[in-house]
Amino acid sequence: MKVNIGLRGWRFDDDILDENGRIRPLGTLDPETRQRLLILARRVVDPCDACRMVEGAATEACNVAEVIYGEPNGEVVLCSAHEPDFIYWFRELGGEEYAGETEMRRAFHEWFVEGGRAPDDYEGLEHVDEDPTAVPDAPPRSEAIPGIEEELDQVDEDDLDSIDIDLDDLDV
Ligand SMILES: [Zn+2]
Repeated sequence: MKVNIGLRGWRFDDDILDENGRIRPLGTLDPETRQRLLILARRVVDPCDACRMVEGAATEACNVAEVIYGEPNGEVVLCSAHEPDFIYWFRELGGEEYAGETEMRRAFHEWFVEGGRAPDDYEGLEHVDEDPTAVPDAPPRSEAIPGIEEELDQVDEDDLDSIDIDLDDLDV
């Protein structure tokens, strides 16, 4: 069985969790799963990428990320208000050609920064949350991904640096 952890989107084999629903020791996971999890741990407390592009540095005006798409180090996190923009770009405007590639984030960000949006009546999703969670209500990482804080304490700082994510160098 596959499970979502922390955010919708990326799905993991459910044996990533132990019988108490906590993350298994990172050292026991295969490298790709571990990398995804470390990125997820970092991004689960981030604001939505699209909100950040709209609001600039004013992250308190952004919604929390609720969904994660794309590949590790090219992932996009979005609130439910901006998820339709991504889905529209992906399905209708050729974004799909970036599937499986880290370039996807840059391509989506460029489109969005240029003013790209889904039409108001776009029905790409079955449900859209009209009232996305504001940042102050973001669950703490330890709640979103049970057991992850203990695991992160064990991780080499160098490993974390290697997955560092820098949105600041985007020209927005
Ligand atoms: Zn947003």
